[in-house]
Amino acid sequence: MHAGHALSEADREIQATARAFVDELIPWEGEAELHGGELPAHVVKQQRERVRELGFEAVNMPRELGGGGFTMLQQVLVSEQLGRATNALGWVVHTPAAWLPAVATPEQLERWVLPAIRGERRECYAITEEGAGSDLDAIQATAHADDGGYRLNGVKWHVTSINHADHVFFQAKLADGANAGAHAMFVLDLDTPGIRTVRVPAYSHTISHHHAIVAFEDVRVPAGQLVGREGDGMSFAHEWFRYERLMIAARSLGAAERLIEEATAFAKQRHAGGGPIIDHQAIQFMLADSLTELWAARLMTYETARGIDAGVDVKVQHAHCSMAKLYASEMAGRVADRAVQVFGGRGYMRENVAERLYREVRVDRIWEGTSEIQRIIIAGQLAKRGVGGLIG
Ligand SMILES: Cc1cc2nc3c(=O)[nH]c(=O)nc-3n(C[C@H](O)[C@H](O)[C@H](O)COP(=O)(O)OP(=O)(O)OC[C@H]3O[C@@H](n4cnc5c(N)ncnc54)[C@H](O)[C@@H]3O)c2cc1C
Repeated sequence: MHAGHALSEADREIQATARAFVDELIPWEGEAELHGGELPAHVVKQQRERVRELGFEAVNMPRELGGGGFTMLQQVLVSEQLGRATNALGWVVHTPAAWLPAVATPEQLERWVLPAIRGERRECYAITEEGAGSDLDAIQATAHADDGGYRLNGVKWHVTSINHADHVFFQAKLADGANAGAHAMFVLDLDTPGIRTVRVPAYSHTISHHHAIVAFEDVRVPAGQLVGREGDGMSFAHEWFRYERLMIAARSLGAAERLIEEATAFAKQRHAGGGPIIDHQAIQFMLADSLTELWAARLMTYETARGIDAGVDVKVQHAHCSMAKLYASEMAGRVADRAVQVFGGRGYMRENVAERLYREVRVDRIWEGTSEIQRIIIAGQLAKRGVGGLIG
């Protein structure tokens, strides 16, 4: 399908299966757009069953725990295809917290990890606060030692998928004890007393997943709900960021591919100024730049994934994931903008894929670290390792 990427037979099969699955999702986009991102319950149920049938449940989790055990490249291939669908319909493919099994206690494994891998439970993340996004160390949430466990307080912003989740990872600073001031991560069921949704703001995209502002008010948890050790909180966030940044890059590729395909098809059949608009150089240039940038982003993203599979140094992985996210998300933004232009007035209609993706890909330059933060990470690694240390 994609010439020149030297994919194995197994990789190509996964790619083709994911592509065919997304082709089944795409016809539901219009309905989702008109209904706040929601689809009828029976449709969602069928889609979930398809995910299981196709072997796309928990593809990022170890095989020995019941996950798919996909390589990072294979995960990128799946996410890339999911990125072709708008309205977050691709989020029906759930990837639980891959960093968790290595540090989970046996109880945490039974209660949260294994059910999440089986598709019975789903998590959300409560890390960002009103005054702490890029600067995570500024979080105000606290964990006080309390009766052998902890008492948690804080107000978290943008808690994504809270309405589809039943447990939450909550990051706080330890208020007392030997590790006072250090970060800690906790896992909590969302029905734990003291957790309250403050409000559910509206965002640019039309998806069924909410991003709530959530208050944690004197939430008591036993010590067994601390994830890893006291002080480990930031390292989990970093591992999660690395993974998500690469998957954002992958989804950006899928979005751009869909935009270029649809804009090209339109430009071939739309006549204006004496012929099909694809014969006008102004239109050709927009499509040519888009395809060229997509290819560059794809090469970077696949190469980053291959490097992770080959076990390159984790700090180098971190910089590569930042570069892939930075470039691919910015590329998708440019491609979406051009696609709207190619479609003309139709590109401004919500029923048009370019209009939806134009809104949807915007957040990819913001979440999991803004483009500015990615540049800071890349430049920091460049200063430490030099050009050769990062790109060979
Ligand atoms: C739709 C959506 C879903 C999200 N989901 C979640 C979630 O599930 N869980 C969660 O915990 N968080 C979530 N987030 C939060 C997201 O990760 C943050 O919004 C993001 O990290 C940026 O933080 P901020 O919004 O506080 O921006 P700020 O940190 O306030 O940044 C504002 C501007 O300043 C720039 N800036 C900040 N620091 C620097 C610097 N040092 N140098 C140069 N420029 C700088 C930024 O790049 C940006 O342009 C979500 C956000 C959105 C929009």
